[in-house]
Formats: sequence, C-alpha cells, structure tokens
Amino acid sequence: MLPETVSCPTLRVRAEKRSSVAENLLLTNIGQLVTMRGLVPRRGRSLADPGLVRDAAVLVEDGRVAAVGARRKIERMREALRARKMDLGGRVMLPGLVDSHTHLVFAASRVEEYEMRIAGASYEEIARAGGGIRASVRKLRAMPEPALERLALGRLAQFAAHGTTTVEAKSGYGLDLASELKILRVQRSLARKQPLEIISTFLGAHVVPPEYANRQREYVELLTRRMIPAAARDALAEFCDVFCDRGAFSVEEARRILTAGRACGLYPRLHAEQLARTGAARLAVELRAASADHLDQVTRGDIELLAKSSVVCTLLPGASLHLGVPFAPGRALVDAGAIIALATDFNPGTSPTLSLPMAMSLACDGMRLRPAEAIAAATVNAAYSLRRHDRIGTIEVGKQADLAAFDVADYREIPYYFGVHLAWLTIKRGKILYAREPKQI
Ligand SMILES: [Zn+2]
Repeated sequence: MLPETVSCPTLRVRAEKRSSVAENLLLTNIGQLVTMRGLVPRRGRSLADPGLVRDAAVLVEDGRVAAVGARRKIERMREALRARKMDLGGRVMLPGLVDSHTHLVFAASRVEEYEMRIAGASYEEIARAGGGIRASVRKLRAMPEPALERLALGRLAQFAAHGTTTVEAKSGYGLDLASELKILRVQRSLARKQPLEIISTFLGAHVVPPEYANRQREYVELLTRRMIPAAARDALAEFCDVFCDRGAFSVEEARRILTAGRACGLYPRLHAEQLARTGAARLAVELRAASADHLDQVTRGDIELLAKSSVVCTLLPGASLHLGVPFAPGRALVDAGAIIALATDFNPGTSPTLSLPMAMSLACDGMRLRPAEAIAAATVNAAYSLRRHDRIGTIEVGKQADLAAFDVADYREIPYYFGVHLAWLTIKRGKILYAREPKQI
C-alpha cells in the first residue's frame, strides 16, 4: 500500500455517496457489541473488560447514540421503527477506533531507506547520511499546501477503511515557522472538509533542522518564542509534543519547550524512551503530560512511576516492528497498573501503517496484551489521552455515534487474524464513511 499515490477512489466515492444523507439508523443483529462502557480511564483489571453485549442493537439519532442494548428491547422502541435498519449479520461492533499518535501530513514515503535498513543501516546512521526526518523535511518544505492536503485526504480514507474515526496528527516535518504552520493549516482544513475528527499537535521539536546544526539552543529559542505562540494563536494546535531522545532534544530542552507550550494553552505530550533511556518518561510524569509515547527503553523504576500517574502510556508497536527492535514492555506496564493507549505512529520513516487492527495484533502477539486490553487501549484510553473521553471511545447513550464493525463473529478474532483487512463498516457521528460488501473468512 502506498497511501501517497493510491487514493482509493472506490472507497471515497462510496463514502461521499453514503455520508451525504444524515438519517437515523438502527444497527441491529450485532453478534458482539464491545461497548467499553464503565470507568475512564481503564487501568489494571478494568482494562480487560470489554463491556460486551451479545445479540445487540444500537439506535443512532442526530449523530449520537440514542439507545444501546439487547436487540429485542431496542427493536421494539418506537424511534427504532422509524429508523433506517442495517442488519450486521451477527458481526462484531466496536467504538470507532481512536488513533492518538500519527504524523499524517508528509510529502513522500521514505521507501528508499527501507532497503538500507533491511541491509543493516540503523535509524541513526540513515539520519546522519541525510535521510530520516530531515529528508521528509526537505520534501515537505517544497510541496505546496493543496498537494499536501490531497495526499493526506487519501490517507484519511484509508484510516476510515480500517475502522478509525478519530486521528491525532502532529506537525514536525516543517521545522521552520512557515512550514510548521503550513502543516497545521492543512490539518485544520482537512478537519473542516472531511468527516474524520483530526486533533492537532505541534511537534516543531521533532529534530533540529539542518540550518540550525550546532545552534540547537537558538532553535529552542525560536520554538519557545515564536513558533509555539504562532501555533497557539489561531488555535491551530491543541497539544505540544517533543521528540525527547538521543539525537533529538534533551530532557531539559523538552521541559522548556513543553512549559512554553503549556503557557500558550497547548497541553504536553512526549515522545519518550524510544531509542535511548533519557529520563523523558519521568519528565512526562513531572509535567502531568497527556501521554508519554513509545517507552521501548523504560526501566522498572519508570514503569512504577508511570503506573502511579495519570499519564497515558501510548504504545506504538508498528515502529518497533518496522525498525526491527524489541517491543516496549506493554504487559509489564499493564500489570503495574499504568494507563495504556495503542496507536499506529503512522509516519513515512518508522511506522508506515495506518491500521489500528494491525497495531492490536502486534500488541497482543508481541507485548502479550489480551485482545480486550488492546481494544480498550485503541478506543477509550486513546480518547482519554486526547481529552475527548466525554464524547468518543465508548458506545454509550449520548456519546457520538462513532462505530466500527468487523467481519468476524468474536472480537478476539480482530487481532487474531493479523494483517487481514476485516473492517466492514465505519460510522462517524452517525454517517457511514466506509462499508464493505459482506465477506466471510
Ligand atoms: Zn511519533
């Protein structure tokens, strides 16, 4: 799959046709409805409780869940008789998936680095040779806004085709004021003109751009004094993120940048402990960040500290798989009582996948998460990390009708059939974005 060249016209045409009419829906004959109702956020034992309703139905009115429960009860409701009926044929329905860590807007894949890495070059060696994030920066700076927007639009159709209804998106391939704002404007424009919800994060502190080589301190000044205030000014971003790692920004620099972000109203998130153990996870706890992401290199002490905090530990197994490195200790984090989320980290360098079901498979097979835990991490807890848990992430009366059905009879089969496209129906605020013809495995 090459999301930047394949725009998936069939999916998009169908999505537009079906989503043009807002109507009340009765989704019935749902074999297993995974509601994820209950405590938010989920941690410890509650993480494995899917809030399952068998032989269920969901009534959708005005884009919200109006009723949910046993099929016989819901079907008898007066409002249900007037709604358009959709028979799910015994399939499984989940809350619409929430991808809480992506780098959505970029100009081109980095497929040329793929074979270099397979041949043995490390991520950091590729970066030193002019590849990596800096290669993406060169291409993004040269590409005009409409072209970037077209590419991202095709990718969003693919997200919807995999069951995702909400996408967090980071800037970070611009690394100068004009280019970072260009990315954030593309994200805002996309949020307005297509149905998936997009939540923007400013990641000007991704790496130091080449024109600031050996002048890292000046780049941090530029970030805190000009770029962050500019991103916040027009409400172009809601969160501020830093790649706090070897070869990027130190813990002290991250503290300064995230503190400046918070002063402008941008809530902190952090790329932490991916390539090297730097102390970034501890900084996330100190700053009460919304999330600490990656965590491949956390120590036992870090895990215990995170587990006592309200920081969401966002696991990104796609990046570990693609880089050929061990997975983060997801099981240990869950057992210690940490709040975990699961995301794709969709980006052209280290995780070119936009499939959250695939991330669930990797989390189950590679980190020993249980299927219900992986689903909770990609729905309710991901919504919590984006501060949207009052509206999305569970299927409950009054919440947005963000729903994803899969062509399986048991929810555990979603991660079990790894790499198999099983998304069958995706609904955002009551509108059908994606529907696939019935197909049994
Ligand atoms: Zn990332």
